[in-house]
Amino acid sequence: MTKPAEKTQVSWTPALKLTAWYLGFIMLLSLTFSVFVYRVSLSELERGLRRPTVGGPMLYFDSENSYNSFRLERLKQGEANIRANLFVFNLIILAAGGGLSYFFARRTIRPIEEALEAQTRFTADASHELRTPLAVMQTETEVALRDKKLTVSDAKETLKSNLEEVTRVRSLVDGLLRLARNAGAIEKPVKVNVAMVAEEAIGRVEKSASLKKIEIDQELALVFSRGDQENLIELAVILIDNAIKYSQVGKKVWIKTYAEGKHAVLMVADEGEGIKASQLEHIFERFYRADGSRTKQKVEGFGIGLSIAKQIAEAHGGLIEAHSELGVGSTFLVKIPKV
Ligand code: ADP
Repeated sequence: MTKPAEKTQVSWTPALKLTAWYLGFIMLLSLTFSVFVYRVSLSELERGLRRPTVGGPMLYFDSENSYNSFRLERLKQGEANIRANLFVFNLIILAAGGGLSYFFARRTIRPIEEALEAQTRFTADASHELRTPLAVMQTETEVALRDKKLTVSDAKETLKSNLEEVTRVRSLVDGLLRLARNAGAIEKPVKVNVAMVAEEAIGRVEKSASLKKIEIDQELALVFSRGDQENLIELAVILIDNAIKYSQVGKKVWIKTYAEGKHAVLMVADEGEGIKASQLEHIFERFYRADGSRTKQKVEGFGIGLSIAKQIAEAHGGLIEAHSELGVGSTFLVKIPKV
């Protein structure tokens, strides 16, 4: 089972760098503002002390010199007060700005780091999935080449096995490409008959159903939506294929289409192995495979089908709901806007 995504830790260095940038900008504004305030206050102060000379403050001084020295003294004092106030103001801005900058820097960086982490995880998972079939092919080919008594039928056996692995790799690469190119993207939306989508999908998986003697019960009411018919068929195939894959031989699968409120609904239900409640919330994640499918039963798959299905449903303005009970069965409901 692939681990569910863990909470991303924002790394320190980029957050601190961004904090420094934010803070630098705030301090630049604050200092520019302070210089401006300083200049204006100073000239106001000078003007105030220069104003009335006769009959004003001069009355209290015995000479112009003593008035001037008083004026200079007051000017210096005023200047010192303004400087002290501006210094305290800038200190407060520095402290508050530093805290706020750090908070916003972390908030800015978190989604970027999460996206990067998802990308790295995706690449690592994809490489891991590709390695297994490639390693099998390599070993089988090497063994065959080393075997001096290799018969034609042995060689054919090896080629057959290699072909199976190549098919696996191809289906994985096709799936990866679908995901990378945004599986859901609708180029030319058209009116789509959802019942026909289900019918076509059933046709495509009939063979694997009959191999497992699984009966498909269909109840397809006429309901229409807008979108990409081929993508919707692919979505339905993924769900029906899963219902067959994760059901034991001889079980039953139900497929329904119907209208519900503003939605066209496609329902795929099975009486298969079911999914644990704790794993249900992860099954739409890329490469996620619930316990049983990877280990116990060795069911073929890479865990990307449902993420493609989800992308397609969302591109149609809809969603997929999954309900399941372990050992009882699962029901998937695709709900897209009806027309
Ligand atoms: P895959 O089938 O290739 O593993 P999916 O993305 O289609 O990948 O499904 C993810 C996982 O969800 C599967 O591995 C399986 O554990 C679980 N799952 C999906 N559909 C069903 C179902 N109908 N019944 C039980 N488990 C299911």
